[in-house]
Amino acid sequence: MSSTAPLAPELLAGYRRFRATRYQQERDRYRRLEHEGQRPTTVIVACSDSRSGPETIFDALPGEMFVVRNVGGLVPVYAPDASSHAASAALEFAVLALGVEHIVVMGHGRCGGVSAAFEGTVPLASTEFIGTWVAGLRDLAGELDPADLADPVRAKRALEHRSVERSVVNLRTFPWIRSREEAGTLTLAGAWFDIALGELHGLGPDGWEPIGDAS
Ligand SMILES: [Zn+2]
Repeated sequence: MSSTAPLAPELLAGYRRFRATRYQQERDRYRRLEHEGQRPTTVIVACSDSRSGPETIFDALPGEMFVVRNVGGLVPVYAPDASSHAASAALEFAVLALGVEHIVVMGHGRCGGVSAAFEGTVPLASTEFIGTWVAGLRDLAGELDPADLADPVRAKRALEHRSVERSVVNLRTFPWIRSREEAGTLTLAGAWFDIALGELHGLGPDGWEPIGDAS
């Protein structure tokens, strides 16, 4: 067996705080969750970015939220084949095994995954994985309105929004998601988080707008 490194001091300190405070407050919940199993009602698909943690933004308790995170918070197109599909496997488990009622795709501002699609700090041809993963975003970037492309900040935000919209479209390529949405037993939503303001925007019938009662 190969040995591993000890946890970093900041992780140990955080763990001690968890044990002393949150676990003490929620001990009964943790014990019940272990005994009864998890029954989250919502899946959040979000970016791996350290500033946009879904459990923090939605103030979620243990057992409430099934979270899928990857670079950019992307949902791929339904493609059952012999390849390994981490995001699709997580969705399959959440929808078919856990029976969740809501799927939320949440993007965020200043997303490095989206920046990568614009050939930002990392030349994509030199990456082993990122270039392939964000290839769909590069296609979307090519479809942006010229008015958005004129300003780099505006272009990135537009692509962050388009990325969420595309992921929602891709969710509907999964037959067991589409059928449940059509039957009214599963809702699909898009959201985008402004990091500096701590403000969530929602994708509604009239486009992207701040979600109310966020003051
Ligand atoms: Zn991101």
